[in-house]
Amino acid sequence: MGDDAYACQGSRRLERLTWPAFQAAAQTCGSTVVWPFGAFEQHGPHLPLGTDALFAEQILDQVLETFPQEAPIWRLPLQSIGFSPEHLGFPGTLSLPAELLIRSIETVGAQLAAAGFERLVLFNGHGGQIALLQVAARQLRAAHPSLGVLPCFLWSGPKGIGELIEEPERSEGLHAGQVETSLMLQLNPELVGP
Ligand SMILES: [Zn+2]
Repeated sequence: MGDDAYACQGSRRLERLTWPAFQAAAQTCGSTVVWPFGAFEQHGPHLPLGTDALFAEQILDQVLETFPQEAPIWRLPLQSIGFSPEHLGFPGTLSLPAELLIRSIETVGAQLAAAGFERLVLFNGHGGQIALLQVAARQLRAAHPSLGVLPCFLWSGPKGIGELIEEPERSEGLHAGQVETSLMLQLNPELVGP
C-alpha cells in the first residue's frame, strides 16, 4: 500500500499527498516522517536570516533523494521560525516561545501517531533549540509510546567533519562563521554578502 502511495504521488512531501495516500503512507510498515526545523535570526551582516532553515530544508531534501524510492519516508513542511531569544537584540530576528513550539510538536506528533506513523525525526538546523526539541521528543514519546521520536541536529554529523575546521574557528566560530558561510557558499552562493 505504501509503495502505491509513493508511486501514485511521486512525492515525499506529505502536503502533496491526497488524504487516502496519506493514510496509506501512515500505515506502511516502518513509516517515517521527517520534520525540518530552522530559525529566523540574524546571521551576521553577510548571511540571510533564514540560514538555519535553508540548511535544514536543503540538506534534508538532498539526503531524501539518496533513499530508494520504496523507502517509507516522507517529510513535513519546514518550520522556519524557531526559538531564538538570544538574537532578539538584532533587527530581523523572529522567535516563538519555547512552550508554543513544544506544544506544536506534541500536537502534530500526536496526530501523526494517531494516523499510524511509526517514527518521527525532528531534523534541526539551529543550535539554540536542541534542548527544546529533546524535551518535546521525550514528552511526545511518553504520551504516545507507539511513535519513535528522534531529535537530531544537522551539525552533529557526519563524524570527523569537525576536523575540517581549524581552531579557534572550530570552537568559537559556529554562528555565522566559517562553517555556516562555507555551507551557504556551496548551497546558495547568491545569498552570501560581502
Ligand atoms: Zn545558524
